[in-house]
Amino acid sequence: MAAKKEKTFKFVIVGGGIAGVTCVEQLTSQIPSADVALITAGHHIKAVTNYKQLTVIHSAVKSLHTETHSLETADGRVFGYEKLCICSGGRPKLLTQDNPYVLGIRDTDSAQEFQKLLSKAKRIVVVGNGGIALELVYEVEGCEVIWAVKDKAIGNTFFDAGAAQFLIPSLEADKPEVAAPCKRTRYTTEEPAPGASQTFTAEPGSALGPDWHEGIALRGAQQVSRRVSVEYQCEVEKIFTSEELLNSPQQTLRPESAGSWPVYVQLTNGKTFGCDLVVSATGVVPNAEPFLHGNTFAVAGDGGLRVDDHMMTSEPDVYAAGDVCTACWELSSLWQQMRLWTQARQMGWYAGRCMAAHVLSEPIELDFCFELFSHITKFFNYKVVLLGKFNGQGLGSDHELLVRCTKGREYVKVVLSGGRMVGAVLIGETDLEETFENLILNQMDLTPYGEELLNPDVDIEDYFD
Ligand code: FAD
Repeated sequence: MAAKKEKTFKFVIVGGGIAGVTCVEQLTSQIPSADVALITAGHHIKAVTNYKQLTVIHSAVKSLHTETHSLETADGRVFGYEKLCICSGGRPKLLTQDNPYVLGIRDTDSAQEFQKLLSKAKRIVVVGNGGIALELVYEVEGCEVIWAVKDKAIGNTFFDAGAAQFLIPSLEADKPEVAAPCKRTRYTTEEPAPGASQTFTAEPGSALGPDWHEGIALRGAQQVSRRVSVEYQCEVEKIFTSEELLNSPQQTLRPESAGSWPVYVQLTNGKTFGCDLVVSATGVVPNAEPFLHGNTFAVAGDGGLRVDDHMMTSEPDVYAAGDVCTACWELSSLWQQMRLWTQARQMGWYAGRCMAAHVLSEPIELDFCFELFSHITKFFNYKVVLLGKFNGQGLGSDHELLVRCTKGREYVKVVLSGGRMVGAVLIGETDLEETFENLILNQMDLTPYGEELLNPDVDIEDYFD
């Protein structure tokens, strides 16, 4: 690299999302005297990072040179590092690039853009079956929603067809006036300080994370409350503009409405829908690209930077955490990686601990949070708790399920393998999460209890106390 290093920091963290910020917080609490730089492309940084020793550089990293331990930013500056942690998140897998009618929701800017376009929309098509799609179809009002999912049931990323069946009536009912309360700590974003150096690029901001739609009205141009139709087991075949559809030689594709919508989506089930906007909610790809060129990172099949049980990539002194990385240590049989906010926070926290421990030559063991998968969220105004191998992931046919369902109230599913609880899905106010978490962790043989385990007349908490 020709340019000279402006400064070499002991620690450099790239990315001001939840992983980057928790990494900085941990590092500075472990080694308060260390000079730390946070380089981030986004306009905002998650939460407050109030440390005197922290230098915040608002610019995107353009390239990384692991041999010389240096990074170049979009504004042409070069910084050295002794230890680096890449927390650059992911970017939405868009169905198509550069189509003004196709939008992915990721950060504050794209959510605002969506809100603006939605306010004039009569019909939107939502493509995808993950968390963002689930929340969107439930939250959007005043606009018809066509929801294209590739699976046989909604919410396949998070639960099975039984749970989907439990939730579907909520989509057909009007929204409750009062939303279920949220008891989670909220992180806000911090504006850059006045006069702080920053260069804006096309780089994305931090992913919005839980509660992203709180405080933004997701309302279309119609009077209807909610109108969602689900198209199962299909993907997008093609997206047409109005003109393209009218000029298409495939006359059979033309819906009656041809010409009256700005954009048309042809699905693999043969149906074509006209709409005002297509929301592409088909997941994220790790944002590893800017760091790969000229280096020899081991990259996982999903495009993430492979990290070991100390959050270290294959390049010396380079760590990674959050959506950009792929956990490649020998995973606990009850944990799996999902690109979720809680995991990004846990990884950032643990990466910071590991970086500090390595510098201080202290031993460090894999954190306990990677022992058992747990995720708490809210779908369709129900509390949803997912534990362990909640969908029997990786168990093949070697598991049995116990299910208890009370329509409109709760859905409880337990996954058992060899008589031991290995996972659970809890929807509604079940109050079972703590007991089940303990039963999963202690791997007690539950064979003697059989189906009694879910008997609503048995106070299970007392039972296992
Ligand atoms: P990000 O938050 O994406 O942060 C990456 C940071 O890196 C950003 O600051 C970005 O500006 C910066 N950056 C990127 N490239 C560069 C570069 N070249 N140079 C410098 N900086 C760079 N998870 C849940 O658990 N529950 C939810 O309800 C939930 N809802 C979600 C809703 C939405 C709309 C979205 C998009 C995601 C949601 N998620 C949810 C997922 C969750 O938000 C992410 O898993 C998590 O935020 C990832 O954190 P991160 O720090 O790894 O990455």
